[in-house]
Amino acid sequence: MALMLDCRLLLRKVKDLRSLTPRRNRVKEKWAATRVKHPPTHLALQHFDVTYNVQLGKIWPSVRVALLSERKYGALLNCFSNHGIVEDLQSQGCRDFISDRHVEDEPLRTNQNSEIGCDEESTVFDSDGQQPTALRLSPNIKCLVFPRGDVTRFKPARPDMCGMLSYYLMDAASVLPCLALGVQDGHNVLDLCAAPGGKTLALLQTQSIRFLCVNDTSVSRTLRLRKVLNSYVPKEFLTNEKLRITSFDGTKWGEIERNTFDRVLVDVPCTTDRHSLMEDDNNIFSKNRTGERRRLPQLQLELLVAGIQAACLGGEILYSTCTLSQSQNQSVVEQAIYVARENHDINLQVVSLRPLTQMFRNTFHFAPDLHLGEMVVPHLASNFGPIYMCKLKRLT
Ligand code: SAM
Repeated sequence: MALMLDCRLLLRKVKDLRSLTPRRNRVKEKWAATRVKHPPTHLALQHFDVTYNVQLGKIWPSVRVALLSERKYGALLNCFSNHGIVEDLQSQGCRDFISDRHVEDEPLRTNQNSEIGCDEESTVFDSDGQQPTALRLSPNIKCLVFPRGDVTRFKPARPDMCGMLSYYLMDAASVLPCLALGVQDGHNVLDLCAAPGGKTLALLQTQSIRFLCVNDTSVSRTLRLRKVLNSYVPKEFLTNEKLRITSFDGTKWGEIERNTFDRVLVDVPCTTDRHSLMEDDNNIFSKNRTGERRRLPQLQLELLVAGIQAACLGGEILYSTCTLSQSQNQSVVEQAIYVARENHDINLQVVSLRPLTQMFRNTFHFAPDLHLGEMVVPHLASNFGPIYMCKLKRLT
């Protein structure tokens, strides 16, 4: 009580002192001089209004309002934790969107081993119902979300008796590229741009990977990734025989380790549209990062080509971003296919992800009629994304 009174007196004295200072000697409020005229978040919105109005047409206003509203998270369950959190989350109304997927459009799902919700892998068939694609969803990745229109926030995850956290909060749409990658037992996997590690963690949940190579050029972000892994994965799964963490420039990977990996995730740096509209700090639209922003498509192209070179014959590559931008999405993939063929003699097939979008259409809004790849677009009722993804298979 006495302390509070002292504080009040002190504050009053400070105010009195200020009123005693002659006006001409008073210093102007600092914020007036340092306030940025055009904050990066405004510049980002201006840029998006111009480009996405053309690109997305009549859905842009609805995507815009969702992007400017609070995003939704998903809780990626940690299979290495024995916290038993699922019942708790389910009692709050959450559901695992992966096992709870839409099944009507899987007519030929009856052969092999693919009962929805069972503990075996499920094979997804193309919409023509004839050929099974290479898309096999791991039954071990589980991600809980609140229902459409429910904007309840998850509580922070708590550690179990061994110190492992029970779930990792991330945009639920970010789990889709990991599912789409279709990791199978015994695969060698490269995660080329991995930090801070949400997708790496999702890939590890498959429990199918023989060797995982995790890379990110940023040393500080790689440290963050190490911390994430240490908080979620027991030490015995992080040995040198199972995991390698590096901080190389991913664009050079094709020179280091070619024709090696069964699966490669290329989750490139991009304009991170949601972040760019919400945070002025570390914003790619700030004036001093204009050059870096303009160079993004070239960097993305080089990363994707390096990822393609790193994949083995028959191996599959998943390119993903968290932007709606056509020039960072479809155009990069088109150019990479061209460069791989012309410069490296590598032929690629685009693997359709349409079955995936059919399955998860109750949880996410997908952009209609994309000619290459698939994209989750933010929507107020299910405010996930943006996430763009395109899958390629190495034929030669
Ligand atoms: N996959 C990560 C996850 O799910 O947590 C997010 C990756 S983030 C979209 C892109 C990452 O690319 C950043 O961490 C950035 O440091 C990294 N990066 C940028 N340039 C790179 C390069 N030349 N080689 C490898 N990584 C790079």
